[in-house]
Amino acid sequence: MSGKIKYINASEYPKEVLSKGLVAVDWYSTECPPCEALAAKFEPLSEIYGDHIQFIKIFRQENRELADQLDIHSSPTVLFYKDGQLVGDRLNGGIKRSELEANLNSMLSDETVKAIKNKIKITKTNCDVIILGGGPSGLAAAIYTSQAKLNTIIIDTALPGGQVKTTHLVSNYPGFIEPVQGFMLGHYMSEQAKEAGASYRAAVDITNINFNELTVTVDGIETIHGKKLIVATGASPRPLGIKGETEYKGQGISYCATCDAKYYKDKEVIVIGGGNSAIEEALFIAKFASKITIVHQFATLQANKQAQEKAFADSKIKFIFEHEPREFVKTSRGMDVVIEDLKTKKMRTLSTDGVFVFVGMKPNIEEIKDQFNLDKWGYIETDENMLTKLPNVYAVGDVRSKQYRQITTAVSDGTIASIAISKQL
Ligand SMILES: Cc1cc2nc3c(=O)[nH]c(=O)nc-3n(C[C@H](O)[C@H](O)[C@H](O)COP(=O)(O)OP(=O)(O)OC[C@H]3O[C@@H](n4cnc5c(N)ncnc54)[C@H](O)[C@@H]3O)c2cc1C
Repeated sequence: MSGKIKYINASEYPKEVLSKGLVAVDWYSTECPPCEALAAKFEPLSEIYGDHIQFIKIFRQENRELADQLDIHSSPTVLFYKDGQLVGDRLNGGIKRSELEANLNSMLSDETVKAIKNKIKITKTNCDVIILGGGPSGLAAAIYTSQAKLNTIIIDTALPGGQVKTTHLVSNYPGFIEPVQGFMLGHYMSEQAKEAGASYRAAVDITNINFNELTVTVDGIETIHGKKLIVATGASPRPLGIKGETEYKGQGISYCATCDAKYYKDKEVIVIGGGNSAIEEALFIAKFASKITIVHQFATLQANKQAQEKAFADSKIKFIFEHEPREFVKTSRGMDVVIEDLKTKKMRTLSTDGVFVFVGMKPNIEEIKDQFNLDKWGYIETDENMLTKLPNVYAVGDVRSKQYRQITTAVSDGTIASIAISKQL
């Protein structure tokens, strides 16, 4: 037992899960960072909800047959039961406390939920350095500050790793002779930061940030105070902002080839964009899809020469230049894409199985942008030590105003900020 959690194996499942009233089951694995991130939430929630709901953990690796029967193929997976029947959501990956609470609350009466909420107290934690964002820049900063014996907490709204973990292969990060899987590179960086002594609040909701007091409240239950704060929240794919895009995101429109290309084996896709990401990701998608049509607004590609040569040499990849998408329409096959010829202004419709959009990035600072000086593209301006206009608040990586955004430049920013901080604390 840990918290109010019971660890069981498959043979106990009928008695401990199916024959009980309200149950939450966490299928976990070892050496699984998302499982660790979940454990940091599941255990405290078991203390709070444990009088009403039984909290169970089952080790997936040793109970595979039952896991397969229940269609559980990744760790962690959390399932909820009422009188032996599955209820609520099937949660997996970077599971948030708010998602767990929503499911637990839905199993209880309003009165019970109210009584439980009254029991929750906000805790206070002090540290030297708060790092918002666990991508390459934040993790590099954490490695340096932790090795300088500064108590460092990395707070990430997702699991650590940043954009790197959604990149198929990285061939330009020094230290790897052969291209390294982006997912593994992100994993190495976060494990290195952990080994150096940094602690994590991963897959959390940030419910408040106060840049004057240097406090960040996570999941509404813990307020963390730092002496210095580093904003390392990176960037996200820029949407096209056209009709149908928001509605069909994740249902035929994707921004991540590593995540979704596998679903297009022997199918046709359209890639929007002509820069490095678009062409490199199109080459990756070509391993699965039977045909890729790249729609690009300019008459030439903006990607590096090597990637361009590979794309032009790939018989599966076709190009439509000087066209822009205007609308997405969901069809029984997949997606219709209405595109406009920028020279003639004529519209035409392309039918496809799926669409990938790679048209640049935007900084992840929506809620905090008013606090900083921003450049004309909306990125945070800093001095050469990465200090923003706010005292003790730094910005590093893709979120910062600069010309080149790569893993190496992100890591460089994180290094500079953390050395500057270490000299002061
Ligand atoms: C498809 C693709 C391929 C790429 N290929 C390469 C390559 O081959 N080589 C190369 O050098 N670079 C490549 N890049 C660019 C590289 O990944 C980025 O430059 C680098 O990851 C930037 O690191 P970062 O730490 O600044 O931000 P990110 O990697 O974006 O990490 C930011 C982190 O902050 C978290 N976060 C976001 N908002 C918040 C918030 N409000 N509060 C707390 N946390 C938050 C995110 O969850 C994330 O973990 C590629 C990028 C993409 C998209």
